[in-house]
Amino acid sequence: MTPLNTPQPDLCRRAVRAVGASLVLTSAVGAISWGFVPHKRLHAKAWSLLPPDLQRAWHTGPAPLVLRATDADSRKHSDSLEAARHYLDVDDVEAEGLNVWGQPWHDAQQVLVSDSLGQSARRFGVLPWQLEWSYRRLVAAWSPTDSTMPNPEAISRAAADLGHYLADAHVPLHTSGNYDGQRTGQRGIHALWETHALEWMLSPSQRRSCPPCQLEEWTYDPVWTPWETLQESHAMAADVLNAELEWRALCAAQGHGFRRRGRTMTLLPTQEALALWDSLTHGHTWPRYCRAAERIAAAWHSAWVDAGRPHLPRTPKRPWQERLALYLPPQWRAFLLPHPHDTPSPAPLDP
Ligand SMILES: [Zn+2]
Repeated sequence: MTPLNTPQPDLCRRAVRAVGASLVLTSAVGAISWGFVPHKRLHAKAWSLLPPDLQRAWHTGPAPLVLRATDADSRKHSDSLEAARHYLDVDDVEAEGLNVWGQPWHDAQQVLVSDSLGQSARRFGVLPWQLEWSYRRLVAAWSPTDSTMPNPEAISRAAADLGHYLADAHVPLHTSGNYDGQRTGQRGIHALWETHALEWMLSPSQRRSCPPCQLEEWTYDPVWTPWETLQESHAMAADVLNAELEWRALCAAQGHGFRRRGRTMTLLPTQEALALWDSLTHGHTWPRYCRAAERIAAAWHSAWVDAGRPHLPRTPKRPWQERLALYLPPQWRAFLLPHPHDTPSPAPLDP
């Protein structure tokens, strides 16, 4: 692969900074998902792209979505079915001569189990079908069938999960059985693409922004858009793996340095090495991030339209005296709220 505007290789030959014995060396290998920060930033960005009528109807702001942006990854620790929801190994499906492209899960299952000697139909991942299920779940959360009002919590959960899986579908390595370069001696490539490079691009020093987008121009089809997205991502996977080989050869062991990550010092690619990586991948990562944000916003908007454009109920805000009284001793509470029926009930104890 020919790099565009390739920085000089000696950019990578910066000495690793001296570090004290107290520093903790950690490896990012094994972080098999968009990083914590990119997932959250994607949800915040997607919220900002929503049309005003949906923002008014939803009116919770982006905070609940940002808060739950990585819930789906956390569930991998407690739910054995969760991991397969984040990928589809397109190359492995093709290598077995199976054709499930665009098929409903019921039909795809027949194909996947027919010749598999008892192996699970989920063995290559279920991401495109999960995206359709998650979309239906969000529509159902917006329009409960039992005539109750839409529940903000249920909507946040469903929308955050849909956004998470859709973000994963934009990552080339989420479409390959060689997702972390484990078959080609390229361990760590997954975190390089979707965590280290993205976090660097999202850092204030980079000042990157996405081009303006008109959400009205986006159509989101709950069945076909996931397949289109995976097709785009998979078309990039071979280039990503090839670029990493070249990047590794140029940077060798000196493309890494210690950086503070939370409370620990971590050995990570240097900024120069990440700039080289961006060049070797023809700068495709940032546009992919922007497209993911647009598609997440389009999916949330489409689900809301399919649900009939409902509005979330607004819970009336308690007067400031009542809110303050919750924190005061009883005699002061009586002073603030002279009428007994105004006294707010204490918060229930946890069960
Ligand atoms: Zn994920």
